[in-house]
Amino acid sequence: MNIGEFFTKQNLKFTFLDPFNHFEKKETALEVRKDLITGTVSRILPFRFRGYERPPIEDYLKKSPPDKCPFCLPQRDQLTPRFTEEINPEGQFKRGEVVLFPNAFPHSHHNTVAVMGNAHFIPLEEINPWLLKDGIIVCLEYMKKMKKMDSALNYASINWNYLPPAGGGLLHPHLQTVVGEEPTRFMETLILGARTFRERTRRDMWSDYVAWEKERGERFAGEGKKTLWFSAFAPRGMAGELIFILPDTFSLLSLTEEDILSVSEDLSLVFRYLSRINLISFNLALYGTLLEEALFPVQGRIVPRYLIRPLDTSDVNYFEKLHGEVICPFIPEDMASGLKDFFHAS
Ligand SMILES: [Zn+2]
Repeated sequence: MNIGEFFTKQNLKFTFLDPFNHFEKKETALEVRKDLITGTVSRILPFRFRGYERPPIEDYLKKSPPDKCPFCLPQRDQLTPRFTEEINPEGQFKRGEVVLFPNAFPHSHHNTVAVMGNAHFIPLEEINPWLLKDGIIVCLEYMKKMKKMDSALNYASINWNYLPPAGGGLLHPHLQTVVGEEPTRFMETLILGARTFRERTRRDMWSDYVAWEKERGERFAGEGKKTLWFSAFAPRGMAGELIFILPDTFSLLSLTEEDILSVSEDLSLVFRYLSRINLISFNLALYGTLLEEALFPVQGRIVPRYLIRPLDTSDVNYFEKLHGEVICPFIPEDMASGLKDFFHAS
């Protein structure tokens, strides 16, 4: 078994009479890609790609001004939950301008919100690495504390819905952590995939994946001090998907402050790239274990999200919702080459 066998492509052709060319016969090509590690199926439709438009930030700010925001001061002190004394006697974890507290609408039995600073809205290209670093560190401090209280908590993630197209309900920048005894379904899929790969080949799936993508080069998007960046072969979003891996780090708790700053610098660079192509909303997850787990290096994924004009149509449709397959007009290799230029220029 070779890692390349996990990634398959099928070319399809579609023929129709084109109303924009005197109803002459026209043939278009699309590609069905399967990533058997993640179980993702994506349909790459390059003929649909027309670039992106920025979502209406001014409208968002009008509808959700600072005085109505529970994360802005002074409301934050009255409206956000506090931890019980055994978790944190101060009720919150703090680091620099970042404050972490329990999620009032929890998705899990250990679920928090980390508000990143006092500014109600920060444009994507202005999110700086120091703020991100403090955001990640405060999440990890919470995780360390929870792990100390319950050693069975082994899986965690730091997550971000940035802006409404990505499901963000508040403009104020905030991360969310999820910690549990069991991995989430996607993390479990990756861990089981790596385990099966090891059993069958006695090899490490992640090392083979990184080597395979680096050798091919077409989806290898750049390299930070700790991270390797790739565009996903079969993206999980209509605007593609970026993957970053920290190949030698096997627990979130073993990240040093220097590592976190370096990852934050990469993220800030990637955000500037996404903003440059008008993709200013995303879902982000940084996944890791809270134990040294060789089957799962610390890694993250970013799925940019956008609205389709003129109706502000959602980028999730029946194919994704009801068939579990993603329509993607943005060729993954084009995303990698755009980001590569940014890495080279920095
Ligand atoms: Zn606010």
